[in-house]
Amino acid sequence: MAYIEPAPIKDKENPLESMMHRFDKAVELLGISDEMYHILKVPRKQVTVGIPVTMDSGKIKVFEGYRVIHSTILGPSKGGIRFDPDVNIDEVRALAAWMTWKCAVVDIPYGGAKGGVACNPREMSAGEMERLMRGYTMALLDVFGPDQDIPAPDMGTGQREMAWLMDEYSKAKGMTIPAVVTGKPLVLGGSLGRTEATGRGVMVSALAGMEKLRINPYRATAVVQGFGNVGSHAASLLRERGVSIHAISDISGAYFNDKGIDITAAIAYRDQNNDSLDGFTGAELISGDDLFSIPVDVLVPAAKEDVITRRNVESIQAKMIVEGANGPTSFKADDIINDKGIMVVPDILANAGGVTVSYFEWVQNRIGYKWTLERVNRRTDRIMKDAFDHVYEVSLKYKVSLRIAAYIVAIDKVSSTYKFRGGF
Ligand code: GLU
Repeated sequence: MAYIEPAPIKDKENPLESMMHRFDKAVELLGISDEMYHILKVPRKQVTVGIPVTMDSGKIKVFEGYRVIHSTILGPSKGGIRFDPDVNIDEVRALAAWMTWKCAVVDIPYGGAKGGVACNPREMSAGEMERLMRGYTMALLDVFGPDQDIPAPDMGTGQREMAWLMDEYSKAKGMTIPAVVTGKPLVLGGSLGRTEATGRGVMVSALAGMEKLRINPYRATAVVQGFGNVGSHAASLLRERGVSIHAISDISGAYFNDKGIDITAAIAYRDQNNDSLDGFTGAELISGDDLFSIPVDVLVPAAKEDVITRRNVESIQAKMIVEGANGPTSFKADDIINDKGIMVVPDILANAGGVTVSYFEWVQNRIGYKWTLERVNRRTDRIMKDAFDHVYEVSLKYKVSLRIAAYIVAIDKVSSTYKFRGGF
């Protein structure tokens, strides 16, 4: 199969490069065939669409959107939709592959996909967002489907956008089809616990890591970078388990308090302040760079890719990094992190709580029954803890980092499934 490598973006980290680097390393250790290597590497489908949207000014603006289906070997493909100015095809391809590995690590029956639109939701009105989301859905009508490809929220999208997607898709098909998308509002068939799910998974895997490092959560300290859906819930759930959060950050800056930040107050402030921590007074304003060098037990990057790079990795003093975001660590920083003896709970394990509850939402939609929050949380915690333990064992067996162990677990699962299934 002819396959052309994307040219790396000059002077910039490229998440696809980071993903492939770790994939190659795990493949080498597992010793899979060349044939299988290509089967797992090349995405099944890549769609680029142009979406004309009438803006509030009356002018038409055409947005570029993507959907990449990386794999359907374990089941229908699953993955969020990102609305962000930096969205590009390489990023979406990396994120789609990470979804494949993530679903495999937590053993849920989905393949991996991701979507994105290059746009700035912060500068768009609700009406413009709705027209864009409905346009994106129409453009991908043949790609999406409850047994085919199931989207969900990611950066820049949430319940509101998922409701529009479900409505537009259902309208086109002539019947209500809730299982085509997850992360919906509760009243439309969303699951209890879905909003907090990624943060919850981060908390469970952070505690599992602390246990291995013999860190007592009630004496532990943490920094959480990013205060969106993942970061704020991770911070609040870690706080509930006793961890003192010494710093948080968002696009407006980084906020530090060595007595511990009142996370409930920070969330309330953000919610009243147009989704921003700008002006939050419970802490001292510090630079985004200084955030990474604060001496704490746990560092939780929960925003975007490539925030930990060769440039700042030396200054990190945390004992553990728990990756709430997808791809927050560039592969170029991996060796230095390992040499420094920092434990990294990698993205494809640490942030898998979100897709796990997405799976529960899809199951509930299909059986037409609603689970209690207690049941959702109990099952999520179990899946996350089992996945952590499995990856930890594999890391001991192969004498590799948790990251490479997670890739080994995922690649092994997907490739052995393919061997049974063959072609499709
Ligand atoms: N966007 C989330 C992720 O990166 C959730 C995906 C989903 O629930 O399908 O894991």
